[in-house]
Amino acid sequence: MMRNLDQSHVDQFESQLARVKQLWDKNLSSLGVKWPSSKVKQAQLVGLSFFIGEPVNKDSLGWYVGQVAGGAADTQARHLRSDGWAILLSGRGEPHSNTLASGERMPRGSYALASLAQPDATFLRNERLTREGRAGAKDWHELCVLYKGKCAHCGATTKNPDKGHMDPNKPATVDNLIPLCVPCNNWAANDVIFGPDGRIVAVRSERFLKAADKAAQQRIADWLAKQ
Ligand SMILES: [Zn+2]
Repeated sequence: MMRNLDQSHVDQFESQLARVKQLWDKNLSSLGVKWPSSKVKQAQLVGLSFFIGEPVNKDSLGWYVGQVAGGAADTQARHLRSDGWAILLSGRGEPHSNTLASGERMPRGSYALASLAQPDATFLRNERLTREGRAGAKDWHELCVLYKGKCAHCGATTKNPDKGHMDPNKPATVDNLIPLCVPCNNWAANDVIFGPDGRIVAVRSERFLKAADKAAQQRIADWLAKQ
């Protein structure tokens, strides 16, 4: 069931903001989650925080932001997720980002804040990699240690990983390498771009489109035609 915000939540904005900030300080700040600097983002966060783990109607959140932050009814709460907040969105994505604790999928047209105790899982993983020194790894060996001797893509323990390019267009410098097991590297060929966590962030060839069903191909063609 979707929740709606009302005038009582507008009245409680300042006190709730202070409460959220306290929890951020205690649980999230040290993990790299960013405190929202704009009033709009603060209003989004506070609006969702009244109903932790429950979906909040997008329109009602827009209304709330308008009331609290003065007219800018921007409901792009997904930006909060990039800042590390555990925001749930309806639609496709990783299970942790669109599934409620009950196991139900997020209803259309809703946002939720899953927790004020934990950051978004993807954010946490990327942040850890950065924090544990991906950026600071001096050479290939250090990089492999950082990935704990595992393939960045599938997680298999691998003694002699391949030097996988994150972006095959770019040179094989440490900042563009991830350890990949041989099967994963062969599979990837030059067709994909990886993020530092070994997930695919973009495709570089028509390979996956060729394998897609006709309806998906048509949808993509339509989308491309509009670009
Ligand atoms: Zn692998």
